[in-house]
Amino acid sequence: MTTTETSAGSTSETTPSGGAAVPVTGSLSPSRAGDFMTCPLLYRFRVIDKLPERPSPAAARGTLVHAVLERLYDLPTAGRTPDAARAMLDPEWERLLAAEPELAELFAGDAERDRWMEQAAAMVERYFTLEDPRRLEPAERELFVETVLDSGLKLRGYIDRVDVAPSGDVRIVDYKTGTAPRADFEARALFQMRFYALVLWRLRGRVPRLLQLMYLGNGEVLRYEPDEADLRATERKVEALWAAIRRAMDTGEWVPRTSRLCDWCDHQALCPKFGGTPPPLPAAPVDRPSPADLESAARSREDF
Ligand code: SF4
Repeated sequence: MTTTETSAGSTSETTPSGGAAVPVTGSLSPSRAGDFMTCPLLYRFRVIDKLPERPSPAAARGTLVHAVLERLYDLPTAGRTPDAARAMLDPEWERLLAAEPELAELFAGDAERDRWMEQAAAMVERYFTLEDPRRLEPAERELFVETVLDSGLKLRGYIDRVDVAPSGDVRIVDYKTGTAPRADFEARALFQMRFYALVLWRLRGRVPRLLQLMYLGNGEVLRYEPDEADLRATERKVEALWAAIRRAMDTGEWVPRTSRLCDWCDHQALCPKFGGTPPPLPAAPVDRPSPADLESAARSREDF
């Protein structure tokens, strides 16, 4: 895919098939799409207002476990053992701390940090009960993918792992460091996987054979075989979501929607459902981001 800048400053891209350039009218990742489905006001706080959020021990643990599982596959095949993976935890944590020193403030003391690290170690060890990394050679890890739909909406995101069988069949793998895939979380996770499958299908012209979610908190594995109809339905859903987001941008109506996820929301103090008042919207057009800029490509771990 090639990207060009138009004279008006907007971005246009050729389609994966080499078709005519499509002006990019917006951008969406599965995390942000999930935010809007969960609560439109949460989407506004994160994407439009760009309000900062506190790092959380659970999110940091997710980042750490993902980093270890990614680098595990740098080792020679025979060396991919539980002991080797466990030994990677401390160096990976030091690396994350060097990149984000504020993570050091997550813990009240060494004992709390040690407990947290033990939880991360348990997840890494549980991974080995689900599959044997000595028998696998991933085609891709932490793969950044993006594609532009015919409407001009850009879809983008990071895929934890892509496996390709000798037959050419593709498996998309995502590690989850939360616990049980309760119904609402499972729906969000499967939407995320279909989203990635849609992007890969458009990029490679082949529907992924299997979507595999590995829950490292409780050792469950969820597998799903998508088909073309699934992915076309996902495309329609994504387009409808984007239309709803654009309406909210035009009207300034970002409706708060309460759920159990409010317990983890950093923005309760600004939320009308909790007695707060949102800040004024950034002024348009000077301070307001253009639709194509609304979505940061930064790797996020909200869906840990
Ligand atoms: S507290 Fe709940 S309703 Fe309010 S913005 Fe956060 S997620 Fe939405």
